[in-house]
Amino acid sequence: MWKITFRACLVTIAVIVASQIISFAIRYSAGQPFTAFVFAMNSVLPILTAFPAGFLIFWQNEKLKRALAELSEAHTQLKAKATHDQMTGLLNREAFFEKSKQARRKCDSGALLLIDADNFKNINDTFGHLVGDEALKLISNALRASIREHDLVGRVGGEEFCVFLPATNQDEAASIAERIRAEVERIAFHPVDGRPHRLTVSVGAVVSAGQQPTSQLMRLADRGLYEAKEQGRNRVVFAKAVMSAA
Ligand code: GH3
Ligand code: MG
Ligand code: MG
Repeated sequence: MWKITFRACLVTIAVIVASQIISFAIRYSAGQPFTAFVFAMNSVLPILTAFPAGFLIFWQNEKLKRALAELSEAHTQLKAKATHDQMTGLLNREAFFEKSKQARRKCDSGALLLIDADNFKNINDTFGHLVGDEALKLISNALRASIREHDLVGRVGGEEFCVFLPATNQDEAASIAERIRAEVERIAFHPVDGRPHRLTVSVGAVVSAGQQPTSQLMRLADRGLYEAKEQGRNRVVFAKAVMSAA
C-alpha cells in the first residue's frame, strides 16, 4: 500500500510543480501578480484531485497486475494438467506422442520402449485399487530415475508406460531398458504388514531405423512386449534382435 501512496504523492508533486509553472507563466505574460493565494490554490487543488485520482489508478493497476499473475499461474497449471497424467505426473498419452513426434523431427534415430507392469491385476485383486495406484506411482518414479534428462516418459495406458530415447543406438537403449527393469525390481513395496511384494515390468523395445512412423515403432515395440510376456515377464525384448535381460 505504501508503494501506491508513494507513487500517488510523486504524481501529485509533479502536478503541483507543473501547475505553479504554467500559472506563473500565464500570470507573468498577462502582467498579473503571482500571489500567495494563487500559490496556495495551485498546491491545494492537485492534492484534492491528483492525489486521489493517482491513488485510485495505481491501486487498480496493482489489482490488475495481481489478477494477471494469477491468470498466468492458472494457465500454466491448466497446461500442465492437459499434458500430464494426474496420478503419476508423467506425460499423458497425447503429450507423449506429440513430444516424441517433435523429437523425431529433430533427429530421426532413437529408441522406443513400451513398458507394462507385470501381473498388475493380481495386485489390485489382492491389495485393492488404492494400493495398486501406489504401486503405479512407485513404478513411475523408477522410470523417471532410470532415464536421461532429454528422454521422454509417459503413461500411455492403465499400467502401461512408454519411453522415447532420442538419438540412441541399440546398445544404449538396451542398457537404459535394463536399468528400468532392474530399478522397478528393486522397488521396496510393502503393501500389507510390512511384507514385501515384488514389482516387475516387461519391456518391448525397438530402435528406429530412419523414417519409420511412430505408429510402426509402437507396433514393433508391442511385439517385443508380447514376446517378453510370453517368455515369462520381467525382461526386455527388442522387436528385431531378441534380447533377454532377466
Ligand atoms: P500382464 O503381466 O499380462 O500385463 O498382466 P496384468 O494383470 O498386468 O494385465 P491385465 O491387462 O490383465 O490387467 C491390467 C490391470 O491393470 C487391470 C487394471 O485394473 C489395472 N489398472 C489399470 N489402470 C489402473 C490404475 O490406474 N490403477 C490401478 N490400481 N490399477 C489399474
Ligand atoms: Mg500388465
Ligand atoms: Mg497392459
